[in-house]
Amino acid sequence: MSSSLAPGLYIVAGPIGNLSDLSPRAAEILREADLIAVEDTRVSAKLLRHAGSDRPMVPYHDHSDERVRARLVERMASEAVALLSDAGTPLISDPGYKLVRDAREAGRAITTAPGPCAAIAAITLSGLPSDRFLFMGFPPSKTKARTDALNEVAALRASLIFYESGPRCAASLADMAAVLGDRPAALCREISKAYEETLSGTLTDLSAACTVKEPRGEIVIVVGPPGERAAPEADEIDAALRDALARLPVSQAAGEVSRALGLDRKTLYARAMELKGKA
Ligand code: SAM
Repeated sequence: MSSSLAPGLYIVAGPIGNLSDLSPRAAEILREADLIAVEDTRVSAKLLRHAGSDRPMVPYHDHSDERVRARLVERMASEAVALLSDAGTPLISDPGYKLVRDAREAGRAITTAPGPCAAIAAITLSGLPSDRFLFMGFPPSKTKARTDALNEVAALRASLIFYESGPRCAASLADMAAVLGDRPAALCREISKAYEETLSGTLTDLSAACTVKEPRGEIVIVVGPPGERAAPEADEIDAALRDALARLPVSQAAGEVSRALGLDRKTLYARAMELKGKA
C-alpha cells in the first residue's frame, strides 16, 4: 500500500539483453510497485538491482496454482502489481496471458510499459517485408508437428517470425525450406548484446550454414512471404472454373477460384456463366 502508483496491473517490458534498454518509465514502475510477479526471482533480481528497486517479488507462471493468480488479481484491487518476464515483453512466449485475462474479467485497471521484444526487433533487422507478419512463437520440436504447423501458414502472404534454439536451427530451417519453399530469410541472434548478428539468405542457405556451425545464443528466424505468383493463363483459369463448376453452383465456383488464384470474383463469375452456356 506504500506505492505512489494507482492500484492495478502494470505489464512491464524488460530488456532482451542490453540493460540500458529498460525504459525510465518501466524502471519507475519497478521501483514503485507494491509487488512484482516474475518468472524467476534470481533472473529478475539482477534487473531490479539495475533499476534501483527493492520491491518484493513473487514467482508467477500461467501454469501456477489458480489460487496464486486469484490472489494476485485480488491484490490488484488495492495495490500496484507489476508483471515482469525474464526478458522482453511479458506474454510474448512468456507467462501473463491468464493473469491479464483474469484481471480484465475482474475489472482491474491494467496498463503497460511497452518496450523490447525479440520478435519485433528481428523483423526490423531482417530486411524482409514488415507490412504483414505472423508471430509463430517456438515451432514444435518434432518434425511431424513442425511440418503440420508450417503447412497451416504456407499460403499466407506475410512474413513469419519464429523463436528458435541453436541446436534446432538447422532442422527447423530445412523443414521450413521443404514446406514453405526456398524463401528469403534472416537469422537474428543475440539482439542488443555484444555478439549481435544477422545472417541473411535463403532458407536452404541458412540451414546449411547452421549445419556447418551451430549458432550460439538466443535466436529469432524471420521468413519472407511467398513470392508473387505469375498471372495465370486463360487456359488455367478455365480449367479451374470447369473443375469447380463440376462440383459447385456458379457463384460458389467463382468464389473458390477467386480465392485460389487471387483473381477478381465478378470477372470469374461472368466467365463461369459463359462456360456454363448461360451467359
Ligand atoms: N518475451 C520475450 C520477448 O519479448 O521477445 C521472449 C521470451 S522467449 C521465452 C525467449 C526467446 O526469445 C529466445 O529463445 C529467443 O528465441 C528470443 N530472444 C530473446 N532475446 C533475444 C535476443 N536478445 N536475441 C535474439 N532472440 C532473442
